[in-house]
Amino acid sequence: MDDKMIECRNVVYKYEDTVGNTFKLAVDNVSIEVKKGEFVVILGRNGSGKSTIAKHMNALLLPSEGEVFINGINTSIPENVWDIRKSAGMVFQNPDNQIVATIVEEDVAFGPENLGIDPDEIRKRVNDSLKRVNMYDYRKHAPHLLSGGQKQRVAIAGVLAMMPKCIIFDEPTAMLDPSGRKEVVKTIKDLNKNYGITIVLITHYMEEAVEADRIVVMDSGKIISQGSPKEIFSDVKTMKNIGLDVPQVTELAYELQKEGFKLNSDILTIDEMVNALCQLK
Ligand code: ADP
Ligand code: MG
Repeated sequence: MDDKMIECRNVVYKYEDTVGNTFKLAVDNVSIEVKKGEFVVILGRNGSGKSTIAKHMNALLLPSEGEVFINGINTSIPENVWDIRKSAGMVFQNPDNQIVATIVEEDVAFGPENLGIDPDEIRKRVNDSLKRVNMYDYRKHAPHLLSGGQKQRVAIAGVLAMMPKCIIFDEPTAMLDPSGRKEVVKTIKDLNKNYGITIVLITHYMEEAVEADRIVVMDSGKIISQGSPKEIFSDVKTMKNIGLDVPQVTELAYELQKEGFKLNSDILTIDEMVNALCQLK
């Protein structure tokens, strides 16, 4: 059995300027595999090609060269688009751009209605999806009156109602306050751990990346490294060189190390830092 949920094979993507007849090479020979049930984070500074590769994962963009398979289905074949969109949902940065209805439950029903699913099944999916993101009590509310974190969870429920196998999140917490960020990250983790949904998360927040099974680092349209959070963040120098941060405790460990403290370089959490410091006593 094939255990790959997402496979990008040597993907090249060029944005075309039809007027000036010029090209912008946004993704340059990227290969990414995401296994079923995996939680992968993509990191990279602005303009490194993260959103462009993410849009290939539900056929919003088709590769200029190379191929993308979602659950074994080739995105470049036009007849496959609906199957792809059902398998792979996408959540974007701005919740206001993703909400279409004036009542929460109607918004969540919008996707399955477009799929022509029967009303009883839609009702069930809407309720289940809202419960999973902990927004069921708000089902009769007006989305525009909700907080950013709540709106984003409604947007996630809308995607869940399509019963996708994987969800691609493109900086879903970038516009949220810290408490909204926490709510949304908790929801994403829960969908992965308890419902087996494959997750690709693009984020600027290193504390969110620490939660991943694997991190893929992009720079100038290319993948420059990938590995576990410990592998990626312990290389503080490389991360800093390409203009990325590491979690604050990792940086603290790095600075203390430079001052001669005998600490591991793969400290990612406060607990690990406390343990490491206790051992120095
Ligand atoms: P990221 O999400 O990592 O910030 P993007 O994938 O959005 O990066 O962009 C990658 C590169 O492609 C950038 O140089 C960006 O300016 C360019 N780009 C993005 N969207 C377009 C577009 N619609 N037309 C032309 N160039 C684009
Ligand atoms: Mg982006």
